[in-house]
Formats: sequence, C-alpha cells, structure tokens
Amino acid sequence: QDSDVDVLVIGAGGAGLSAAVSATENGASVIVVEKMSMMGGNTLRSGGAFNSYDPEGQASTKMDDSLKATVEKLLAVEPVSDAHKQLIEDVQKQYDEYLASGSDSLFDSPEWHALQTLDAGDYIGNIDLILTLTRNTLDTKKWLTANGTTWDPTIRTVIGALWNRSAQTTNVSGADFIAALSTQAEKNGAQIYLDTKAESLLQENGKVVGATITNAEGKTVTVNAKSVVMATGGFAANVEMRVKYNTEWDDLGETIATNNHPGATGDGIVMGEAVGADLVDMGWIQLMPLFPVSGGGISGYVNNAIYVNKEGQRYVNEDNRRDVLAQGALNQTDKIFFVINDQTEIDSVQIPQANLDYMVENGMLFKGDTIEELAENMGVPADNLKKTIEDYGKAVDAQQDEFGRATWGARLDNPPYYAASYTPAVHHTMGGLRINTEAQVLNASGEVIPGFYAAGEVTGGIHGTNRVGGNAVPDALVFGKIAGANAAAQK
Ligand code: ADP
Repeated sequence: QDSDVDVLVIGAGGAGLSAAVSATENGASVIVVEKMSMMGGNTLRSGGAFNSYDPEGQASTKMDDSLKATVEKLLAVEPVSDAHKQLIEDVQKQYDEYLASGSDSLFDSPEWHALQTLDAGDYIGNIDLILTLTRNTLDTKKWLTANGTTWDPTIRTVIGALWNRSAQTTNVSGADFIAALSTQAEKNGAQIYLDTKAESLLQENGKVVGATITNAEGKTVTVNAKSVVMATGGFAANVEMRVKYNTEWDDLGETIATNNHPGATGDGIVMGEAVGADLVDMGWIQLMPLFPVSGGGISGYVNNAIYVNKEGQRYVNEDNRRDVLAQGALNQTDKIFFVINDQTEIDSVQIPQANLDYMVENGMLFKGDTIEELAENMGVPADNLKKTIEDYGKAVDAQQDEFGRATWGARLDNPPYYAASYTPAVHHTMGGLRINTEAQVLNASGEVIPGFYAAGEVTGGIHGTNRVGGNAVPDALVFGKIAGANAAAQK
C-alpha cells in the first residue's frame, strides 16, 4: 500500500545502502527499494577496490624515480582552469614538503589523488566534485570500518588505479560492503524492499516528493517522501542507451560484452531527466579491459603481471589508464590477451591451492612449470613468450621499459607460471545526473531540484572521459553518505 517516509532511497547497491545508513544515522525514517531479487548491483560484483590516501596503510610502499617522474609530469601540465591551477599549486607545495622531509615512502594526499583523477579523465571532470571525493575517502573508510567493514591490510594498485592506494575488503569483494551496510541500515531501522521497482518520480511545485513504485506483488503504489536519493547505478547493461549516448568507441552494440549486473539499465537517468535533471558526460563509457574469456585468473593487480597477445608479445604498459588498456586489447588478434603471473603473485594474494587446481583442470587458467609448457597450453609461440619474459626481467631490473611502465613488482621467474585470457567489456558509464558537492541534483540552469539527491554511477561529472580503477566504490560510498545525511535534513 501507499506509504510515507522521510527519505526514499532508490537502488540497494553501494551508493543506496551508504545513503540508507547515513540517513538513518541522521534520524530519518528510510525506505530502500531495489528492483532485483537481491541487493548489491554492480558494487556486489566488483572487487571492492577503494582508493584512498591512507598514511598508515601506504607506508610500506616505496617512492622511486619513475613514480617521482609521474608526479612531476602532472605538475608541469598547462592548467585548463583556475581550479586546476590551484590544485597544481597545492600538490606542488605538498610535494616540495615531501621531498624536503627525505621520506622514501609513497607520496600521497587527497589533492594528488584528485590531480590524477582529473588527468585520467582528460581534464573534463568537475574539480569540486573530485576534491569532495578524494578529501572524504579516508573519513568514509573509517566510517565503513565503524559500520562493520573489514579490510585486507595490504594496499595495492588495482588495474587502472595509477597509484598504490587501492584498499580492498577482507574477501577482496564489494559484497563485503553490501553485507556490512545492509546489516547496519536494517539495524538502524531502514526498511529494504526487494523486487520493488521505482518507475517514476513524483514532483510538486518543482520539489521531488516521492516515487511511483511497482511492488513485489506487481501492484503500483506511491511512496511519499520528504526527499529521494537516486542510487540506481549506470546503464552499461542497456544496449540501446549505450548506442544512443556513446561518442568514444566504434561500436558498443550487443556484440560487445558487459560485465555489469542485468539491472544496470539507466532507470535513474530516465527518471531524473523527466523531472528536469541535467545530464553530464553521457558519451563516455568505460570498457573494463579484463573480462574473462578462459574464465579464471589470479588477480587484477598490475604489480607482478604482464599482458601478452596471441603472438606472445607485450603491446601495452600494464599500469596505464583503462581506456588505453581497452583500446590496446581491441587492437590485438581476436581482441584477446593473456595476463601472465607466477608463484609470486599467488603467494601475495594467497589463492587456495584447491581453487588454482580447479581453474587449471577446467581450462579456466593455463599453467606451466616452464615458460615453454605455459606457451603450449596457451597456444602461443613459445619462442616469443620466452623472449617477452626475458625482456621483461631486464625491464624490472632497470625499472624501465619501452611502454613507459612505472609500477614494478617481481621478475616473472618464480614457477609455476599461469595465464588467463581476457577481452574488454562494457564496465562503467561515466556520465549521468549532474550533482553538486552536496549530492543535490541540478537542472540545466545549474539550479538545485529540491528534495532530489543522487550518488554513485547514476551521477556524472567526476570521472571525466575515463574512470580511474578503484575510484568507483569510493565515489558511490562517499557521495552516498553525503546524500543520505543531506536528504535526512530535507524538510
Ligand atoms: P552504485 O555503485 O552507484 O551504488 P550499483 O550498480 O551498485 O550502483 O547499484 C544500483 C542498484 O540500483 C542495483 O542494485 C539496481 O538493481 C538498482 N536499481 C536500478 N534501477 C532501479 C529501479 N528502477 N528501482 C529500484 N532499484 C533499481
């Protein structure tokens, strides 16, 4: 039946559940509607990487010359705006202080994280939003910990993350956030309804005042609310919308795979547009370079891995941006590439032997005690692969290669060797509802639409043309927390 509530949250992924916890903490009554039969959305599927400046966790990572060169390169970029100029000045000052301190552990700060995020998005991201993200990740991380999230102690670089600041949960899975936040939200009194789909927003005199919902019995009901938080995620699983908005790739039609959950159909963008929300950066759609083809794999970490094509050769700098990695892979034979690891990475991420054996026995992962044996199992020329791995060993020693790699781990000389095959797949839609730093949705004139908040992948403006790996989950959780608190204060 119809109901009345302070805050209606649409979507029970990372952003929605974060908003639900934060809104209830701030005294609001909360209803969360989720159209699927389970919570979690894309957040559940993700590896849960959470990029954050974190002085304690990062202390063991050493700063070297190639990392210094990365910082100096971005500091030398011609500013595109006053805000960018200010950001460069702030980072320069911090970097000078860091150098003067004589520290050899990793240089990091919210501003440096912001500058890298801005650069990776080709300088079209909104700097205020980016700084709101990077200046709140650490607090949000602590808040998540207080609300039941537990972490793997090692900070790494997930694919496309560009810097050693990716924290992950104990199970290296976004499911950990969903479990912790949904438990907390319910403990705080939020009501979560599954199989319950928001169809459209209700608006009175410009203010958003609830939504029309199809409930689990298939009935149309109304939820009246003082405010609504839109947290429906992106549209990577909606082929029509992909094709309509894509400006970046030759083809994003149905022949291109997606690794998204089937509910990522852009509903919140359509509902938002109908009440006058402005859309931003809609043409930029991210392909995840690593969509499993063979089906297995060791890890998404760059440090101890190389990528080779069907000819057994490297073709790209593995610690590059995701769009560069995806385009690089699309240019290879059959759009296929292999990630090569050895025992070092297995020890590092501690994969149980039974899982490894299962993947190898079922053809999901190729294994070799020698490189020749690995090459044979992969179906690539052994001579080429041997030379590639030898050359890579020399590059590790020199901390330098022809592709411009800056993230170095161990040489690949610790057998057994493993490889899994991958192709790029549609992963994240950077565009969406335009918001301000308070997570309020804006119309085309830049005015706030009263009562209307949004967070997570349904929003646009932060990631620009290309999202940094490990920035999506903090985006959803940081802005979800902000949206929930502000929505709770809405009269
Ligand atoms: P984010 O990371 O931004 O939180 P997710 O993909 O993790 O995005 O979560 C979005 C959630 O919203 C998914 O669980 C999805 O099923 C849900 N959702 C999408 N559209 C609707 C809708 N119309 N009504 C209710 N829930 C929706």
